[in-house]
Amino acid sequence: MELTNIGTIKDLFARHGFAFTKSLGQNFLINPSVCPKIAEMGGCKKGAAAIEIGTGVGVLTTELAKRCDRVVAIEIDTGLKPILEETLADFDNVEVIFEDVLKADLKAIIAEKLGGFEEIYVCANLPYYITSPVIMKLLEERLPISALTVMVQKEAADRLCAKVGERDCGAVTVAVNYYSTPKLLFKVGRGSFMPSPNVDSAVIRLDVSRDKRYSVSDEKLFFKIVRAAFAQRRKQLLNPLSSALGMGKAELSDILVSCGIKTTARPEELKMQDFVNLCEAIYNKK
Ligand code: SAM
Repeated sequence: MELTNIGTIKDLFARHGFAFTKSLGQNFLINPSVCPKIAEMGGCKKGAAAIEIGTGVGVLTTELAKRCDRVVAIEIDTGLKPILEETLADFDNVEVIFEDVLKADLKAIIAEKLGGFEEIYVCANLPYYITSPVIMKLLEERLPISALTVMVQKEAADRLCAKVGERDCGAVTVAVNYYSTPKLLFKVGRGSFMPSPNVDSAVIRLDVSRDKRYSVSDEKLFFKIVRAAFAQRRKQLLNPLSSALGMGKAELSDILVSCGIKTTARPEELKMQDFVNLCEAIYNKK
């Protein structure tokens, strides 16, 4: 069954009485070249397992199932169940769990369904209304995942793959760099989806570090500093940091200087190591 064919999709919807739910970010891929590329570039191969978030009609799921030993997919919309029973009928290595990914106990799911796999790859065309929360959940929970290869809105891809210390960088850029090495893989135009969204997309890959890339004494404090610093991205760090941390500006200025950071610096000028050093200096003062 050609799952990128508009006629096939419409026929599946009609026969199973399915209607799109816009609020669930249901823009389904109709460009046949995209899913095989996500699966290949996402690391799928024999001996490995894949996790997918948001199956739609199973267009990417089948590409993952052809290449990996096992696929676990998480989909929130139970209305897709009869469609997936049909489209995934030929694959005995796929299990779809109908659940909200943000509420799912992914650690338990991996232990129960994918225990024993050395390499697990997350591949997904993410629902855009929850791009950052899903990526951060996958990274923060320190799951045994080798890489995440996900399609996101083009602007989100630019932000996630920006260099820390450059203009496009934001709090989420620092966060993904804390856990992984991000890379922009390829762009996908809005015409590749049905219904066509108002934005273009891009596929990115985040290679997850098994060992900690950076050593901080207090991760909560680190992310508090990063969030406060980027709350007003184009403004100087000193004021928002001082109010978020409840520290006097004079003391904070001394700390910035001791870390080799200008007291007039803006968050987009700091490198990863500057944030780490700043966190350690503030931690040692508290
Ligand atoms: N993989 C399919 C494709 O490429 O055509 C569908 C991608 S579509 C952009 C996003 C999918 O995520 C939809 O199937 C939607 O129902 C599902 N979804 C939305 N919110 C979700 C959530 N919180 N948890 C799990 N799946 C979700």
